[in-house]
Amino acid sequence: MKNSAPLSWIELSASALHHNIRTLSRMAAPKRMLAAPVKADAYGHGLEQIVTLLSSEKQVDYLAVHSLGEAERARQSGWSRKIMLVGPIFAGRSIKSDFALLDAALALDTEPLVTSVESLAVMAAYAKKRATSFHTHLKLETGTHRQGVIERDLPKIARLYKSSPLKQPYACTTHFANIEDTTDHSYAHAQLERFQQMVSMLRKLGTPPTIQHTAASAATILFNKTRFDLVRPGISLYGHWPSKETFLSHRLHGGREDAFKPVLSWRTRITQLQDIPADSFIGYGCTYRTTSRTKLAILPIGYFDGYPRALSNQAYVLIRGKRAPVRGRVCMDLVMVDVTDIRGVRMGDIATLIGSDGDETISVEQLAALAGTINYELLARLSAETERFIVP
Ligand SMILES: *Cc1c(COP(=O)(O)O)cnc(C)c1O
Repeated sequence: MKNSAPLSWIELSASALHHNIRTLSRMAAPKRMLAAPVKADAYGHGLEQIVTLLSSEKQVDYLAVHSLGEAERARQSGWSRKIMLVGPIFAGRSIKSDFALLDAALALDTEPLVTSVESLAVMAAYAKKRATSFHTHLKLETGTHRQGVIERDLPKIARLYKSSPLKQPYACTTHFANIEDTTDHSYAHAQLERFQQMVSMLRKLGTPPTIQHTAASAATILFNKTRFDLVRPGISLYGHWPSKETFLSHRLHGGREDAFKPVLSWRTRITQLQDIPADSFIGYGCTYRTTSRTKLAILPIGYFDGYPRALSNQAYVLIRGKRAPVRGRVCMDLVMVDVTDIRGVRMGDIATLIGSDGDETISVEQLAALAGTINYELLARLSAETERFIVP
């Protein structure tokens, strides 16, 4: 049910997204395509809202989705350009169910990922049976050991492409294992070399790919050689650095500090204020005890909404431009914060959980570090139930 005055909401900045797309399309220039990953509910931002904004961004050629469900939601939100699947679509349960899934994938006009010889065999059989052809993305295993085809299987792959209507067009793709977690990029360079060798084998086998793509955010930002014909930066599209290491490497090469701006802010409102005496315990487990008279504000969000329980007694929120520390454990649906020293606090005041208020900012990265995780996970776990609003 849509609520016009929710107690907790997410704001999505259209201008920040536009700024990030400009930065990324400059990196992709002059001729490369730009794919916008919108998996995981657009990294927790809200797939429908982000797809709506992306539809008016001319530089975005593709969406990258993990599942058919996401592709369907993207089409329902009005996306009419290309969609690539970066996740598997079938598990080989039966030819009948695999064909039904391919029917669905093609009805949504998506381009499926080839993750194995078996998956291409099913697609080739399908293309023959239905007398049709479609664009595929062949994932090459270059060292991430997640999904993809190994070198030994390339002759079989080439045979399947050649003997089916799927021969052209198709893309070759891979994914790097170790760019964002380090400033030592030798593993990534070895993967890139392996990728190029495998592509040249496919050429020799008579099945040259029409396009190649390898770069997620970190590679797009740092290495021109990985950009090929298309880049698919996710986290930086939403205004975040893949890691501190990526940010540092970018800065060391003279890159701009404000290349990306966070798209998302998360806010709630104070639903209760309490004056409590010294020596009072706060919350489950009595993990916090006051040392003096304290004014507490109760916020109607908790770990159900994606505010990690690991932030108990660790994080702070922003109220009237000041930091209000979290006291006691984060509950399923509630958080208590200390507002003793913030003047004029009232019921209904806005509390910023992620984002800026006055001169203060709480970044996704700060919260993720306090919670012992990364920005990707914190964003992806924001509840889909929270209302999203697009702001200028
Ligand atoms: C998620 C994903 C990306 C985007 O990764 P970021 O690090 O968020 O830029 C790119 N390619 C594939 C295959 C992915 O699964």
